[in-house]
This record gives sequence, C-alpha cells and structure tokens, in this order.
Amino acid sequence: MTLFTSLLTDVRACTLCAEHLPHGIRPVLQIDPEARVLIAGQAPGRKVHKSGVPFDDASGERLREWMGVTREVFYDAKQIAILPMGFCFPGTGKSGDLPPRRECAPAWRDQLLAQLPRLEVTLVLGQYAQAYHMQGKRSLTDTVRDWRSYSPDLIPLPHPSPRNNIWLSRNPWFETELLPVLRQRVADALES
Ligand code: SF4
Repeated sequence: MTLFTSLLTDVRACTLCAEHLPHGIRPVLQIDPEARVLIAGQAPGRKVHKSGVPFDDASGERLREWMGVTREVFYDAKQIAILPMGFCFPGTGKSGDLPPRRECAPAWRDQLLAQLPRLEVTLVLGQYAQAYHMQGKRSLTDTVRDWRSYSPDLIPLPHPSPRNNIWLSRNPWFETELLPVLRQRVADALES
C-alpha cells in the first residue's frame, strides 16, 4: 500500500469528531496525486452527505459553470481534487449549515496537500478555506476583490451556494472580471 492509499484509508476511517456529527460520519472528498486543480471548499451539506458525491447540488452546478468544466471533468480525480475544510456534514444551526468541524483540517489537510505534487491552482471557496489557505483575516469580499494579489497559485471565490445570490448581484465585477480569468486558469492547468 502506498503512502497515499494508506492516508486515504485512514481519512475514510476517521472518527475524530464523531460525537459532534449529528448525522454521522461520512467523509466526502476527491483526490488523486495526478490532480492539477484543487477545490478547497467548506463542508458537505445535507444532500451531499446523503449522496457521498461532492458538489452534487446547486452549488456544484454553479461552480462547474464558473470553472467552465463538464461533470465528467469535474469528477475526474486525476484532474480535479476536492478537499473541503471539514470532510463530514457538520449539521445545521439556526442560520444554515454549521461551520466545518475544526478538528478536521489540523488532522488531515497538510498531509493530503503533500500528496498533490502536480497542483497548478487552488480555488479557495469561502471564508473558512480562505482563512486556512491565505491566512486570511480580511472579509470575504475584500479577499475576493483582491484576487490579483494571490495569482497565479490561488484564486479566492465566494461559496457558489444559492445563499450567496445577493453577494453576487452586489459585486458584478466578480462575473465580468474574475470569472473569465478563472476559466482560463483552470483550462491552462488541466492542459499542463
Ligand atoms: S469531519 Fe474530519 S475529523 Fe471529523 S470525523 Fe469527519 S473526517 Fe474525521
């Protein structure tokens, strides 16, 4: 067994924060050492928890459109890795899904990222992933607006959830300026 397969087996058997997961353990991630694009997300929602397929929801539809990739490419682990900040569905609170479990990233993230030697670009979705990958202390809007300063390795994005429709309509530069660059960067990375 390689280091990669043994690590993945350990992640899939993880029970570290089981007592805090009201719907049970089900790590949802996609990774292969060949991947050139990484999607650093938040945590699975209820629908993804049931299907076990990352971004198998309205957020995923929008994200694929932003990236300009088909479902076939999106779900090819040899092209695209998907690592949320918390691998299991954390449950819901008063105002939507709870934050990703804080135990998850310290336990697994650096080890998994070390298994992606061909990575060309990381799409950093939402405030939790931005805090980790960009040591971000700024607001999501400020971080995404300043996307050029993270180029070319990182691209900060809002979460593609329909809950962010108001943010998208208030920030039209995102669609006109950033999305064309995102699509080109993803296409270039996948061709490399
Ligand atoms: S969320 Fe992460 S740390 Fe918690 S049980 Fe799932 S894989 Fe383990």
